[in-house]
Amino acid sequence: MDVITSVTEMQLWSREARKAGRVIACVPTMGFLHDGHLALMREGKRRGDVLVVTIFVNPTQFGIGEDFDQYPRDLEGDKKLTLQVGTDIIFAPPVAEMYPHGYQTFVTVDKVTQALCGLSRPTHFQGVTTVVAKLFNIIQPHVAVFGEKDYQQLVVIRRMVKDLNFNIEIIGYPIVREKDGLAMSSRNKYLNEEERKAALCLWDSLNRAERLYHKGERSAPRLIQEMDNRINAEKLAEVDYIRICNAETLVDSETIDGNAVIALAVRFGKTRLIDNRSLK
Ligand code: AMP
Repeated sequence: MDVITSVTEMQLWSREARKAGRVIACVPTMGFLHDGHLALMREGKRRGDVLVVTIFVNPTQFGIGEDFDQYPRDLEGDKKLTLQVGTDIIFAPPVAEMYPHGYQTFVTVDKVTQALCGLSRPTHFQGVTTVVAKLFNIIQPHVAVFGEKDYQQLVVIRRMVKDLNFNIEIIGYPIVREKDGLAMSSRNKYLNEEERKAALCLWDSLNRAERLYHKGERSAPRLIQEMDNRINAEKLAEVDYIRICNAETLVDSETIDGNAVIALAVRFGKTRLIDNRSLK
């Protein structure tokens, strides 16, 4: 496995791999890898002949006052983990390599970035689409794998790929959870013991809503109220949003119609966690 840090070198490698007829799979990450990331990589390895994992904490997707500086980083640990799943290349460019002096181009996806996380993080998705478009141009993958954990991100990237005619298959991979149900996330590291316990209300509230849905409840406001009650029962939890929306347009649903997703974001102290559940 090689670690590439230069854009030019990455482009050369990809050109050679394509010339040799290899299918390139790509898994973009911000590093500090956990089993959720590794599952995506195994999927990438199944889908392609060669796997490029990107590790880049992307400054443009962090808002002012967010955790860019504190975001956990561990390239040495990440190298060991990526090796375990047969990664061929880690692409880990420095910030100045991706955004050199004078950089001024951004990719914006319109409507689907404005709901859910877009409300409290208005510049986030522009940073995500910009860096992912750049990574796609540099790596030229045939296939890219993204987690359903970041459900809105997946919708936004599918939209961008379709609208800008990227010739790349986007694969969504199901949420990987800790044994007790908490969705794995690099940010879980920020939680103290009490917050970690309280954070289980996300999983619990999603389960409650899904059970009610399967019993026949179709009113989105009633399910949201039920979840809100459960989460607010935790003193340490502060709801950012709980929404039930169409799984593709992300427009809020009143009555759940068989293609909906519950999405939520909740703060525990300084840590903001997200989770979601499809209702099909
Ligand atoms: P991140 O490093 O947080 O930017 O995540 C990189 C990729 O891993 C994204 O496509 C995420 O959706 C995905 N991912 C993160 N956590 C999980 C998880 N628990 N289960 C599945 N995919 C995940």
